[in-house]
Amino acid sequence: MSSKLRFKVVSEAFAKKPVEVPAPAERPSEFFGKYVFNKQKMFKYLPKKVYDKMCDVMDNGAPLDREIADQVAAGMKKWAMELGVTHCTHWFQPLTDTTAEKHDAFVDHDGKGGMIEEFEGKSLVQQEPDASSFPSGGIRSTFEARGYSAWDPTSPVFVIGDTLMIPTVFISYTGEALDYKTPLLKALSAVNKAATDVCKYFYTDVKKVITNLGWEQEYFLVDEGLYSARPDLLLTGRTLMGHSSAKDQQMDDHYFGSIPERVAEFMKDLEIQALELGIPCKTRHNEVAPNQFELAPIFEEANLAIDHNMLIMGLMRKIARKHGFRCLLHEKPFAGINGSGKHNNWSLSTDTGILLHNPGKTPEENLRFVTFIVETLMGVYKHNGLLKASIMSATNAHRLGAHEAPPAIVSSFLGKQLTDLLNHLEETEEDALITLDGKHGMKMDIPSIPEIMIDNTDRNRTSPFAFTGNRFEFRAVGSEANCASAMIALNAAVAEALVSFKERVDALIAQGVAQNSAILKVLRDDIKTCKPIRFDGNGYSDEWVVEAGKRGLDVEKSCPIIFDRYLDKQSVEMFEKLNIMTEKELEARNEIKWETYTKKVQIEARIFGDLAINHIIPIATRYQSALIDNVHKVKDIFGEEAIGLSEENMKLIREISMRTKTITAKVQEMIEARKCANRITCERTKAIAYHDTVEPFLNEIREEIDKLEMIIDDEIWPLPKYREILFIR
Ligand code: ADP
Ligand code: MG
Repeated sequence: MSSKLRFKVVSEAFAKKPVEVPAPAERPSEFFGKYVFNKQKMFKYLPKKVYDKMCDVMDNGAPLDREIADQVAAGMKKWAMELGVTHCTHWFQPLTDTTAEKHDAFVDHDGKGGMIEEFEGKSLVQQEPDASSFPSGGIRSTFEARGYSAWDPTSPVFVIGDTLMIPTVFISYTGEALDYKTPLLKALSAVNKAATDVCKYFYTDVKKVITNLGWEQEYFLVDEGLYSARPDLLLTGRTLMGHSSAKDQQMDDHYFGSIPERVAEFMKDLEIQALELGIPCKTRHNEVAPNQFELAPIFEEANLAIDHNMLIMGLMRKIARKHGFRCLLHEKPFAGINGSGKHNNWSLSTDTGILLHNPGKTPEENLRFVTFIVETLMGVYKHNGLLKASIMSATNAHRLGAHEAPPAIVSSFLGKQLTDLLNHLEETEEDALITLDGKHGMKMDIPSIPEIMIDNTDRNRTSPFAFTGNRFEFRAVGSEANCASAMIALNAAVAEALVSFKERVDALIAQGVAQNSAILKVLRDDIKTCKPIRFDGNGYSDEWVVEAGKRGLDVEKSCPIIFDRYLDKQSVEMFEKLNIMTEKELEARNEIKWETYTKKVQIEARIFGDLAINHIIPIATRYQSALIDNVHKVKDIFGEEAIGLSEENMKLIREISMRTKTITAKVQEMIEARKCANRITCERTKAIAYHDTVEPFLNEIREEIDKLEMIIDDEIWPLPKYREILFIR
């Protein structure tokens, strides 16, 4: 970019006016879910018998037969056509971090040379997209390209523009999952079964346990013009170079600050469209870094919440452009300031309305509360390495362990009260605990029980898995990620822990131990076992890394090696036993993870080389020539005196020479490292080579470039700078 162009782009960005969004005529309660074929619409558009059947399918997982599907499709078509819909698509989540869709028109031949609007049950229920270009990790070779998408009736159909969107799973011809949703639904079903069985100890009427998820989506907005002038942002989603701005987040004046007008209009537009699609948006605010914001809805059932998160990420990207912005969902778009995450607030609740991670008022309820807390910790403890793998990616790796976001070690913060309670339970004599047989109205011999008030304000920002009053907050999830990955691992781990818990309690009961005593005995063992996962200290400190290692927690930092955790014996056993994924599927997924990792670093390295050699070096050289020219001219005029007068310029000339030389040499070395890595055929080894031998160059070269940015004439610097990109007016 020429100097003039950069100046133009920057001044245009600063002068931009907000695109005003008119207030909707109705209240949110009236337009909420306007474009969703929810139960309300089903009731209106389907015959009563079909409606009842659909409720059974959605609420209880009953099978959907063809005749019913045809009638549902007919009702859906009628509703959709009233909204001007002309096309439909299956909407699924392949293993690419985005969603996929292929639109088909609602038309067919009428047999008389004309066309009719047609939409049958079979198009609703199943489609066969030729999907050979989606990642499959070798499960499906390109000549066997068939993949099936099948309707997930637990997530309602919705309309975007002229298209009816049908949420589906995506599986291969041989039945293996090629998406996130399939194993997610299986993991949710596993935790439902395991938790319902455990619930029976406390409440006999519970038929179902639901997983709740409330995500908090962080993101950056940047001006579209400035974005387009940064090839690195455009192609990788992050800035690969850029000196920090003199002022960024050090004054803490952005967090919860007043929202800039241009951004407020974007948020309003986004919220209206999200509410119309049934996404219950609730909270919005400025985040810590300049230009960083957050959006959070009210929590929902996890499968729906994940679909909604995928949907809103798409909406954010689309609506941002309408407002002259680009929305950055990358975990670390800018070095030196906070990155973006997606806290996953997670809890379990029953069909009878009990929040299982919420303390109650009676000893019985609190025994249930402690049970679900401890068994959650057991799952997280046993599979802490896997949980880390579930949130790891080439992009999130920039955030984890970088002293500002959750560290690259999974541990759990419980707060003082709950810690005291667990410590007390662990230490209490068995006899004393027998008095817990609460049925006879006896008081528990435990302080804080029967009534526990968990203080919501007791918080620890450094913990990746923190208890926050009535839920756990899994904070290590990346802003760009599909939450399903984390939710599959977490729910599987908790399901496994609950199954094991029940087996041991039942064995004791069979030996004649009273139920509550048996529960307490197993809990006491488990509290001891999972103690290493509990950590309330500073997760960013170096001491914690040492301490966590001693405790046997996973402290690995290399992204491609962390992926190995998926193939550990205990992970494979868990996923297979719970019928969530087979070893073959896990292996295939890991191939994709390694390949994706390699490709991302490869793309960054290529762009980096291009920017360094074709953008930065020529400008540095040009500036250096101007300085040399100046030195000559000063000498012409002042003769011997000039040596003193040009001292500063001479220093700059030397510095530019040194830095450009280093940059050129390192770019060459980086290219060689890439060539070497590219010859490796094993995806895992190749990813490790990219991590160990290619990626380090990015930081090394960047340092040199960022220093050049500080000494070269601002007028000719080719890229918009952090201070220009990061402050929306
Ligand atoms: P924070 O204070 O951490 O910024 P909020 O209070 O804004 O968070 O809530 C964050 C998210 O947690 C919201 O989506 C909210 O609906 C969700 N949430 C609240 N309670 C639960 C729960 N029991 N289970 C799951 N999610 C919950
Ligand atoms: Mg939070």
